[in-house]
Amino acid sequence: MFFFRVDSSEIAYCLKRYRYIYLQMPNQRTVEISCELFQGYQIQVDLDYINNKDDIVRGIVDELQFFLKECNLINLLERSREKKFHIHKEFGEILMSQPGEIIWVCSHC
Ligand SMILES: [Zn+2]
Repeated sequence: MFFFRVDSSEIAYCLKRYRYIYLQMPNQRTVEISCELFQGYQIQVDLDYINNKDDIVRGIVDELQFFLKECNLINLLERSREKKFHIHKEFGEILMSQPGEIIWVCSHC
């Protein structure tokens, strides 16, 4: 008999991914990494489900690291763990941002 074990964090990831890709989110914003290694990596977030800047940073870093792990890019995964990702904008400014605006996640400073 074959048992297929799925980690609950993988299910949560798949559900989130499905929501980001297939459902229309009215308060959707693009979040992008600004960094010499991971520049251009983007996710979509729904501001209705974000409570603070850390939620945004954790969201994009989790997805980036999941992707790097899936692709077995272990050196890049290790480099991503060394970085201190953060957002310069205040949370209030993010909530007031326009739909086309990008929320930048920095690792330069
Ligand atoms: Zn910075």
